[in-house]
Amino acid sequence: MKRLNPDICRRIRDARKAAKLSQSVVAEEVGCKQSALSMFEQGDGTKISEEAVVNLAKKFGISLDEPSGTGGGGDVQPTLSMSVPVAGFCPNPNCPTNHAYLVDGLEYRRPDRAAADPVGGRFCAMCGEVLEKKCPGCGAPVHDGAVCSFCGNPYVAVLQGRG
Ligand SMILES: [Zn+2]
Ligand SMILES: [Zn+2]
Repeated sequence: MKRLNPDICRRIRDARKAAKLSQSVVAEEVGCKQSALSMFEQGDGTKISEEAVVNLAKKFGISLDEPSGTGGGGDVQPTLSMSVPVAGFCPNPNCPTNHAYLVDGLEYRRPDRAAADPVGGRFCAMCGEVLEKKCPGCGAPVHDGAVCSFCGNPYVAVLQGRG
């Protein structure tokens, strides 16, 4: 996790303090080190995994996609529900927002939806490809991960060149 909105760090820190939870307890819960969480709360996200940040945001009901400075509200309530707005993924297998990984020698892509669609827009923030908001296989809403849990298709189709 390189690019961070300092506003998100501050809101997560405030939410953690409001919930009277220590850094070490929260860090263990979301799957990172206390030192990483401490640095994250000071605006340095280099030591914390993106997954841990997403878990933090979910735990404290904070949207990672929300641009800073907009919207009033301010009622931060701890929640574990999936209230994060739907972000699309980039269908371009060569786009840097899609991270390659191998399973049994086959290549897959894990879409980074926060990188491809930070504002809930229509086009990929990295390559300009039209974003997919639904599974191309079955039309179900996209979720985190590389493969649709409804139909089992990988979100990003990759040509398997070797054989
Ligand atoms: Zn892209
Ligand atoms: Zn599907």
